[in-house]
Amino acid sequence: MIVEQVQKPTIGYVHSLESFGSVDGPGIRFVSFLQGCRMRCEYCHNPDTWNIGGGTEYTPRQLLDEALKYKNFWGDKGGITVSGGEPLLQIDFLIEYFKLAKEEGVHTCIDTCGMPFTTREPFFSRFEELLKYTDLILFDIKHIDTKGHQRLTGMPNENILEMARYLSDRDFPVWIRHVLVPERTDYDDYLYRLSDFVASLKNVQKFEILPYHKMGVYKYEEMGIRYRLEGIEPPTKERVENARRILRTAEYTGYLDS
Ligand code: SF4
Repeated sequence: MIVEQVQKPTIGYVHSLESFGSVDGPGIRFVSFLQGCRMRCEYCHNPDTWNIGGGTEYTPRQLLDEALKYKNFWGDKGGITVSGGEPLLQIDFLIEYFKLAKEEGVHTCIDTCGMPFTTREPFFSRFEELLKYTDLILFDIKHIDTKGHQRLTGMPNENILEMARYLSDRDFPVWIRHVLVPERTDYDDYLYRLSDFVASLKNVQKFEILPYHKMGVYKYEEMGIRYRLEGIEPPTKERVENARRILRTAEYTGYLDS
């Protein structure tokens, strides 16, 4: 007797869903915030996503079926985005989810800080497999300086910058995002270094500055975690403009043609 082996789908751990996301990629998008992150960004407004292994369980098919309920709202540009937390921590789930999505012609996007990236196996082959089913990466570069990155997020950034270069070598479309935080990233020296780094990449379609805000602080109080940016206010309009000028964000217009 031949016993057919049926491979079980990988389970994804999802923190929350947003049916009509408008800031996480092109058009209107169904955004899944996946559970789990190993970074500890001082300004993180989703500390409730940190815990690895919590969240609601979905199979890739279940999550896509949920997303497809909103397909009529996506138009030409919209689709699905996975965010977090750090979605690349659940890379096997992403591969299956995006593979199913591409079979249905859905535009796919990953919002990542790049922390899990490594050219070592088994991650690297999995990452290359994932790129086959991915249309766009929203890449959050938290800090250009390694020590600054370590202080801000608890992790170094060498592998993150390596991922940015790798995607550039492959000419894989990315939108870069950078949070401007007074006393952390908002120094002209850092901004010029980041500007040079991003200008050295050939695949950046959009470059956005996200001014630091304090909207997630209440979660720290609820969770009994000390908020380490206590007393630091959002950047002024002038500093945001200064950052946009140094980073030359207006020059990254590839997203208009895509
Ligand atoms: S990478 Fe994102 S989810 Fe993780 S700590 Fe930083 S801001 Fe929060």
